[in-house]
Order: sequence, then C-alpha cells, then structure tokens
Amino acid sequence: MKILVIAAHPDDMEFGCAGTIAKFIGEGAKIDLLIVVGPGEEITPGRNKQIVEAELEASLDILGLKWKTLSSKLKRPHIQCSPAMVTKIDKLFGDNHYDLVITNDPGDFHQDHVETFKLANSFCRKDVNELWTMEVLPYSNRNTTFTPNVFVDIEDHFDAKLHMISCYESLNLSAPDFANISALAKYRAIQIPEASYAEAFQQYFRKIR
Ligand SMILES: [Zn+2]
Repeated sequence: MKILVIAAHPDDMEFGCAGTIAKFIGEGAKIDLLIVVGPGEEITPGRNKQIVEAELEASLDILGLKWKTLSSKLKRPHIQCSPAMVTKIDKLFGDNHYDLVITNDPGDFHQDHVETFKLANSFCRKDVNELWTMEVLPYSNRNTTFTPNVFVDIEDHFDAKLHMISCYESLNLSAPDFANISALAKYRAIQIPEASYAEAFQQYFRKIR
C-alpha cells in the first residue's frame, strides 16, 4: 500500500492521522509526506524555522518518515491553490501510484487547510485510488461539514501519536490541550465497536479497478 499525506503545515499530520499512518506502516505501507508550507518564517513568538524544523524532524523520526515541501518562504496563512502549485505537486509525486491520499478538510477554519484540500483534490486526478480528509485540532473544532465515514482503530498507536505531537514543544500545548486530543480520539472510538482510541476521516472518493 502506498499513501501520500498532503498536509498544509508541520504538525497537521500528527494531529490528524499519525495513529493511522503508524498503523499502516506496521502493515508494510510506504508513506510519502508533503508539507505544503514547510518550517519557515513564523508568526508565533518563540517559534522560528530552525525550532520548528527540529521539532518536525524529531516527530517524523519516531515513524522513520521523510518530508518534502513546496515552500519554506511563505508566511502562514498564505497558501493559495493555483495551477503553478498543482504543477509543483505533480512534479514531486505525479509519477507514482497512490492507494490513498490523506489531506486537510475544507471545512476547517484555517484558510491554508481549505486551500490545501483544493491542491490535494486536483492532484487526485492522477493515479490515486482514494481520498480522505482528516481532523486537525483546533481548526476542525467548528467544522460543521466534516462527515466522517472512515474510522481507524489506533489503540496500539495512540501513544506514538501523543509522543509525536509532544515533539512540538514550541506549540506550548497545555494539559487541557492533550485532554482534548484524547477526548476526540475516545469519541471517535465510540463510533466503532471495541476500540479505545480512533481517528476519523471523510472519504471523498474511492476507485476500484
Ligand atoms: Zn495546519
């Protein structure tokens, strides 16, 4: 199985699908990761390119993942879906077959997430069998259009997900933030039998050849 995660920012993959990616890696999947806007100029005090890049690398080392980016020069929020950006993604990944692409959900209140969905959706005209969107706290908190229909049991991988999120020390996440992450995973687990932690996704399409 070959999976491409197209995430707007460093840490989106960790919040949205790290448990699922860990699970698929355990089943032999190959993972490519595109962070549309890589570590770069930061608007939050206490963060900069070097800090975020070190945190990202530490997080991805837990699963042995590598990453590519379209730009480290764009400030956030700044992503705008354009033919030029779609062409850049095509050049990086368009020669590959992907069983699954996972990306941000267009109902999130971060405009970069909205534009990243458009980029990923355009990329999926290539050799892609399936597209899912993910929940990325806190930007999915007021998402009223996300309609999850895929639930992945991540009980054995929830600790790895938390460990990865913890690598981003400059986010200054508090105990209540981590409680929210756990609460969402437990809520999603309620929606499938016999799971204690889960991640939820909305499947946009699936091709069966
Ligand atoms: Zn994001």
